[in-house]
Amino acid sequence: MRAAPRRSIEKSNAQFQKALKRLPLGVASTFRYWGDDRTIYVDHGKGGRIWDIDGNGYVDYRLGYGPAILGYADERVDAAARRGMEVGGVFALSTERELAVADRIAKMVPGVDLVRYSNSGTEAVMAALRLARAHTGRDSYLLIEGAYHGLFDAAMWMANVEEWSQRGGGDPEVVAYSKGIPQELKTLAHLVPMNDLQRLEDTFKRHGNEMAAMLIEPIQGNCCGISAAGDYVRLARKLCDEYGVLLIIDEVKTGFRVARGGVQSLLGVTPDICTFAKAMANGYPIAVVAGREEVMRTFRYGGAAHGGTYTAHSVSLAAAEECLRILDETPALETLATYGENLKAGMSKILNRRGIVHSYAGHSSMFGLFFAEKAPDNYRDWKRSDYSFYDQMAYFLHDLGVICEPDSREPWFMCEAHDAGCLDDTLQAFETAVDMTL
Ligand code: PLP
Repeated sequence: MRAAPRRSIEKSNAQFQKALKRLPLGVASTFRYWGDDRTIYVDHGKGGRIWDIDGNGYVDYRLGYGPAILGYADERVDAAARRGMEVGGVFALSTERELAVADRIAKMVPGVDLVRYSNSGTEAVMAALRLARAHTGRDSYLLIEGAYHGLFDAAMWMANVEEWSQRGGGDPEVVAYSKGIPQELKTLAHLVPMNDLQRLEDTFKRHGNEMAAMLIEPIQGNCCGISAAGDYVRLARKLCDEYGVLLIIDEVKTGFRVARGGVQSLLGVTPDICTFAKAMANGYPIAVVAGREEVMRTFRYGGAAHGGTYTAHSVSLAAAEECLRILDETPALETLATYGENLKAGMSKILNRRGIVHSYAGHSSMFGLFFAEKAPDNYRDWKRSDYSFYDQMAYFLHDLGVICEPDSREPWFMCEAHDAGCLDDTLQAFETAVDMTL
């Protein structure tokens, strides 16, 4: 392994020291802290690239964890957002545009009858679970191991796979992602590994009659793009129907990205409730909880409480209207999926020439890269796989001007602005980073 020719991030380092005095970990979101001498502060982004405050440019495959689907500072969406700004912000009253955007979503996603807005993915999934509980009168719910559904307490349970691997049997212990989550809530969450049909059936047999909802992210956007097999999601749909459980498909990352109708349209499975966020407004804060009419009408006085001061803010809503129009009416999604295909093909060529075994998971618009013959199809196998090569390579890539998430769980996100220039720069850096890691 050779040392990377590190780019100077002196200004970022100095900013970090200053920021530490006022901001915990020197950042606004814990995941943006990459270490005391590696935390980068962004000056601006344009298209598929970002520039840090030291003037270093990077081809960016994080895209703000997915939202910038058309590229940063897209002039079409930003112009719409400015028009939204001129309208006035928030009114504690509704606007006509809420219906226009909801109509577009219902047109794009066949399973959507009704729509409610939120400000973030967390809020939308939280509302979806509340809705399911209010509708069914039940409290417990089912999560898939390795999934991330946001920061609210009910979503923050995971399987302790390290301890389970050492123990070598039984079920993994369920543990909280974070301190500050009441242990009492744990009894309401059931966890199953993705793609294990038998365990899914067993869990429904044992708990199906008490569960309000099953939450699934069929392409796990926080676990390398690990994907649910069609059979698995179809079984989930069938079991939900049998036991009166509502199926929630969390499309916060996949929505308006992997297909116009989301991952549910690729699988041909209609959820009772679904959530959307990131790609719907190219980075402006807006999210959606949507679904079947009978369920969605539980949002009412005396039913499931829902609302929020900034809900359907005129800036975000105008941005969503334009972004969704572009995604629906132009070949943007096909374009960015093709970029993803080309990127994967280029990476494979480089890796194959060196005899490096690898595979991909997810979708061309958001894919995980593995240094193993077969991508894992569940979190337990991912946890046991060796991702040290990836971790090292990711840091070299940063130093060479390509930003992917240093944690291999986050997929590579593609945008419409990842053009041939981005691809060439990326593959050149990738080849060097691979050789440095070897
Ligand atoms: N659901 C999924 C599938 C996500 O990937 C995320 C965030 O990455 C969330 C929910 C939470 O969204 P937000 O960060 O906007 O609160």
